[in-house]
Amino acid sequence: MSPHAELVSRLRAAWLSGKTRPMEYRLAQLEALGRFLDEKKQDILEATAADMRKATQLDSAFIRKDPYGVVLIIGPWNYPINLLLVPLIGAIAAGNCVVMKPSEITRNVERLVAETLPRYLDEDCFAVVTAGVEETTRLLENKFDYIFFTGSPSVGRIVMTAAAKHLTPVTLELGGKNPCYVSDSCNVQNVARRVAWGRFFNAGQTCVAPDYVLCSVEMQEKLLPALREAITEFYSPNPRESPDFGRIVGDRQFQRVQALLHSGHTAIGGQTDAGERYIAPTVLVEVQQDDPVMQEEIFGPILPILTVASVDDAIAFINARERPLVLYVFSSRKEVVKRVLERTSSGGFCANDTIMHMTIPSLPFGGIGQSGLGRYHGRSSFETFSHQRSALLRGAGRETLNTPRYPPYAPHRLPLLRAATETKRRATCLLL
Ligand code: NAD
Repeated sequence: MSPHAELVSRLRAAWLSGKTRPMEYRLAQLEALGRFLDEKKQDILEATAADMRKATQLDSAFIRKDPYGVVLIIGPWNYPINLLLVPLIGAIAAGNCVVMKPSEITRNVERLVAETLPRYLDEDCFAVVTAGVEETTRLLENKFDYIFFTGSPSVGRIVMTAAAKHLTPVTLELGGKNPCYVSDSCNVQNVARRVAWGRFFNAGQTCVAPDYVLCSVEMQEKLLPALREAITEFYSPNPRESPDFGRIVGDRQFQRVQALLHSGHTAIGGQTDAGERYIAPTVLVEVQQDDPVMQEEIFGPILPILTVASVDDAIAFINARERPLVLYVFSSRKEVVKRVLERTSSGGFCANDTIMHMTIPSLPFGGIGQSGLGRYHGRSSFETFSHQRSALLRGAGRETLNTPRYPPYAPHRLPLLRAATETKRRATCLLL
């Protein structure tokens, strides 16, 4: 292993141990950093060239939320209006001009948005571009001041690469496999209804849907009849006839999801109809970690159940995979919820329900690692589309106050200089 790989793997092991998380640990590290600055002050002074920063009471210093400029919003097909317009609201609120690129897969929405939305907005500042992969590739060659992308991790990587050419900042709202741990202590009927609702809503084509369940063998035995009951209650004994159960968006997507039905053993559902792009609400058991259904985001109405021996087993399973957009835990024991929350990492977290965390506007929504970069919703949407511009407004006079920072430098000027630049907190430190 190369020294760099060894170093990264050492730090990752420390990260997984959870030691950086307690407040006391963080404070101790910050105190240690403060000690470094105190004890090495002279060395630092000698080693660095004077590169001064300064803020005095005579100045006005503030952060101005500036719009980025011309931003690009690229949307997916699964909630084609919502995932285009919710970011748009933030971009407009922050004062940007916007190019919107809806998904070409949902053709009717794409056409509607392209033909009608510009009539409502100032056409000087807001435009809709209809584009497939090729044209979007060309669109991305242009310099934008911000790119907000919602879609798959693989296309997110393409978008980020294109953005990097212009050093354009990005928000990437991506997908992945959201784990759902069900502990032995819970109300099984409630869990089944909340999980089935989250998984089968929009025929499973939801980025925050629970992707798979982790639970004990005993819990699986109780959960299966409860899931069957919940599915029947929601969608009748024949979900195909239910006006509340959706279809897969296209033939290509249907083929992909249908192929995932061959993993494990079908405990509930499993029926399909290619003509209608119908896949019944399905629950799979005896699923192995290396089965196809566990290799990609399912994004369809299939719920695999994998058995684990304990909560720590579930945590290890989750931590061995990419960080998800959301992590779900069902337990009536607070300590179980707390343990999972403290020992894992994910974009969002929701205990004893599914999807509902993203309906709270005060909670920023976004992923981490493979599930995305950045956040939005509510005030966070405004923040996302705003550049935090630090500004110092200084008077043009009072030049004598500036004299200490000008060369030639002399030791007798140091106390005055220190007084002008020190940061007062628990202890005083001077950063050059
Ligand atoms: P996708 O990545 O295939 O497409 C998203 C957008 O990117 C579309 O507008 C498409 O035209 C464009 N695109 C596709 N290929 C491109 C390329 N090579 N170059 C440039 N642009 C390209 O995603 P999708 O199938 O529309 O949506 C499903 C994915 O989106 C799932 O992974 C899901 O989890 C994710 N998603 C995430 C969120 C979230 O908020 N995090 C919300 C909805 C969907």
